[in-house]
Amino acid sequence: MVNRVLSVTSECFPLIKTGGLADVAGALPIALEEQGFDVRTLLPAFPAVLKTTKSRKTLCKLPDFFGGSAKLMSAKSADGLKLFLLNAPHLYGDEGNPYQDDAGKDRANNHIRFAALSYAAAKLATGALTNWQAEIVHAHDWQAGLTALYLSLESGKKPKTVFTIHNLAFQGLFPPTELAALKIPKACFSRNGIEYWDKISFLKAGIVYSDAVTTVSPSYADEICSDDGGMGFGGLLSHCGDKLSGILNGIDTNIWNPETDGALTRPYSRNKLAGKAKNKRVLQEHFGLKIDSDAPLFCVISRLTEQKGLDLLAAAVPHIIGNGAQLIVLGSGEAKLEKAFITAAGAHSDHVGCFIGYDENLAHQIQGGADVIFIPSRFEPCGLTQLCAMRYGTLPLVARVGGLADTVIDANEMALQLGLGTGLQFSPVTEHALKSAIDRTLRLWNDKKTWRKLQKNAMNLDVSWRGPAASYAALYRRIAAK
Ligand code: ADP
Repeated sequence: MVNRVLSVTSECFPLIKTGGLADVAGALPIALEEQGFDVRTLLPAFPAVLKTTKSRKTLCKLPDFFGGSAKLMSAKSADGLKLFLLNAPHLYGDEGNPYQDDAGKDRANNHIRFAALSYAAAKLATGALTNWQAEIVHAHDWQAGLTALYLSLESGKKPKTVFTIHNLAFQGLFPPTELAALKIPKACFSRNGIEYWDKISFLKAGIVYSDAVTTVSPSYADEICSDDGGMGFGGLLSHCGDKLSGILNGIDTNIWNPETDGALTRPYSRNKLAGKAKNKRVLQEHFGLKIDSDAPLFCVISRLTEQKGLDLLAAAVPHIIGNGAQLIVLGSGEAKLEKAFITAAGAHSDHVGCFIGYDENLAHQIQGGADVIFIPSRFEPCGLTQLCAMRYGTLPLVARVGGLADTVIDANEMALQLGLGTGLQFSPVTEHALKSAIDRTLRLWNDKKTWRKLQKNAMNLDVSWRGPAASYAALYRRIAAK
């Protein structure tokens, strides 16, 4: 029976996080451990990781490791994750964002930094660095994309490999002149290998060399096989056949629990929803909005990027406030989007609030107090904020794409007849369709009984990692048996 899994990732909540990848890498191993697996996570020892881990022990020294000396360490996170840390100060010693410098530019040696992570993973997984040998290696996104390639170069007994694409937009493209620095034989730079339009693609390496490829929802798995959604990889992915599958993400339902959430002024449950009204009032106060329990309070918690469709939302602000609704935006990203929401908040301070930045605590308070969360993404591999929102009785208004299409049940006429619906979907992703969905939301809001029913439906869903972890377990067993 397969048991030992090495998860390879560049970020992992709560140690270091820039997006949903960290949430998955932090929560999936714990859910798999509950199903009997022994899961270790290999992660670069960024300064933030060194500050927040305990029981660190050096396992072995790597004196000549991609241009400097490094150490492999074991450690534990506060919530019990079993970690291997690749401590290489010459690669990971800078504070701040793991991929970009303070000016927001990709770090110049990212290819070396993340090749080193995969290289260490391959050595570790075969037992070359410690006596722990993996049966499955699960690598996440382009940053760990070379893992299966390096494993293919090892001799002896090798683990099976899974590569998960969290976002196809990030492809890890670098010039072929770097092959030698990456310790990759020239022969791998071919159409059947890692060559992608005359560049090296770490993402392609993950797809080509792994035994199984997953992405984070069934709909996104379909979308990325098309010309439109494939971002240049549609042909390759559509030829993967049943090697490619979509497994939805879950969320950590201990961290996201409205009954016990310390960030909320008034915890609440699906049977005692009244507490949510108090959190809404506190949120309106916090952002200086008009205190009004009758005004539907919309929110956004997101990276502010083109992908997330928030330019459409910015254009719909007059429509939202013209209907007496309110909007709170938490996020950071593209300058023009930040400016659009700051300007809207300045011009309509009674109805629009905005915080530019990243704030985990505030994200919880907003989920606890808002009535609706907007996710008008142009594409969305899975999306996590709609799962958190449903658990908090905050209805998601989402574009019908990727994981949003797979997780939110649209409260259309027929669904309502059956007492179903957990939110609203719209399509195509245009300003017009978004505005119609806002109008539909406002009509539902005015029918308090139906609204309450939708909230309860949403809060009744199991959005935990239990189901997804069972699907990964089944996949591990399937490929191990091959
Ligand atoms: P992505 O990974 O594309 O950014 P996801 O919805 O998959 O989007 O995951 C985003 C995660 O980051 C969620 O847990 C969300 O709550 C969180 N998040 C995004 N922006 C912020 C922010 N500004 N402050 C706090 N949390 C945020």
